[in-house]
Amino acid sequence: MDRIGSVPFGDRTSKDGEARDEVESVEVKPTVVQVYFPGKGRTLAYYNERFDLHVGDIVFVDGKLEGLLGRVTVVSTHFKVKKEDYKQVIGLADTHVTGQFFQANGHLITFDPLVLPWKQFCSWVKPPEDDAGYYVSYDGEGFALDDLSGLEVSDAVYERGMEYHQEDRVVYLCLNGAQGRAIVKGTRPYEVEFRYRKGQIGDLLCDCPCGYTCKHAVAVLLQLRETLEIVEKEYAALWRASDYFSIVSKTMFYTFAVDADPKAVLSLGRRP
Ligand SMILES: [Zn+2]
Repeated sequence: MDRIGSVPFGDRTSKDGEARDEVESVEVKPTVVQVYFPGKGRTLAYYNERFDLHVGDIVFVDGKLEGLLGRVTVVSTHFKVKKEDYKQVIGLADTHVTGQFFQANGHLITFDPLVLPWKQFCSWVKPPEDDAGYYVSYDGEGFALDDLSGLEVSDAVYERGMEYHQEDRVVYLCLNGAQGRAIVKGTRPYEVEFRYRKGQIGDLLCDCPCGYTCKHAVAVLLQLRETLEIVEKEYAALWRASDYFSIVSKTMFYTFAVDADPKAVLSLGRRP
């Protein structure tokens, strides 16, 4: 992504997501797979030459059902097809999660940057995309997180944002040093980014089409406020040690990390 504009909070290098950069294998035997789309109640066939697919995998495809989540129901390695006749599998959700989570209201929280990094969570909600076509512009204005009047949004937008927050539509949020990113569930998954340092918010951006501060951004800031309160009260030492946390909605976590992975093991304990 081209960064244009001021960089008021220091550097923008990110350490999250690098551990699992490539889900795709080096050499994959082509397959034709049947994919069931729960949102449509339909099963369709797709050609696949990018991933090592298994029954139960959660995938994204191109064509008419692009953006919809599907589940692989049959994998064929023995076939004769014309590749051009088929749409293809373009994304595979990386559902393997290993690590420690703590409670944070409607979310689970981890302080380990490698447990469920940004890039891995993105693979749960959308196919990989390049950033071509995005124009990013910052105006450099910051404001205090505990005084959201700095947002300058209408009452209607603020109220919608509040509803989104209450409905736990902020399904993922990570704060890596000062760099924050979140995914908000709307008509499609929206990506919100911001900088946060010592109570100050800056560089707040959402990739939805509205072009001004939107309900997604409001929801993210309210979620951040709620999470920081919990962190400071319950997990201050863990946060200080790692300068990182990420939260994931309990529903999403169960659907992807538990339900979609037949080999997943849940192990519960109590913190001292
Ligand atoms: Zn938005």
